[in-house]
Amino acid sequence: MERIYPGIKADIEVVDVATPLSYERNTDNWQGSSCGWLLTTQTMPWMISGLQKTLPGLRNFYRIGQWVEPGGSLPIVAMSGRNVIQQICHQDHKAFIAIEP
Ligand SMILES: Cc1cc2nc3c(=O)[nH]c(=O)nc-3n(C[C@H](O)[C@H](O)[C@H](O)COP(=O)(O)OP(=O)(O)OC[C@H]3O[C@@H](n4cnc5c(N)ncnc54)[C@H](O)[C@@H]3O)c2cc1C
Repeated sequence: MERIYPGIKADIEVVDVATPLSYERNTDNWQGSSCGWLLTTQTMPWMISGLQKTLPGLRNFYRIGQWVEPGGSLPIVAMSGRNVIQQICHQDHKAFIAIEP
């Protein structure tokens, strides 16, 4: 992080040492599991299709993250947010432009 964002190290005030129980408490994930959904023959195909990002009757609301992208992980949840922004740009007839950091 320091290499990409010089100076960020000085902004760290607290370092939290977490255990699986911390993850269970903070995320409510089963036994503090890391990526939300348990992958089974039922949930595995949702890794490809993803789950619905909108909810009926709730305009301008989008869900992103590991609970709508079975498999989870940081790259996938980042992609989840990116894809929703792309979808919103499309709906607003705006160009979606991605830049690399
Ligand atoms: C121990 C561990 C190791 C991992 N290692 C890796 C790894 O090496 N590589 C990798 O790619 N992935 C790893 N993962 C998985 C990855 O961290 C998750 O898939 C990813 O962080 C999920 O992102 P998310 O945004 O969906 O959910 P989260 O990161 O859980 O974000 C949800 C946020 O919502 C907040 N929140 C919850 N309820 C409320 C509420 N009612 N109101 C307001 N805010 C709320 C939570 O505090 C949290 O900040 C690991 C996970 C764990 C637990």
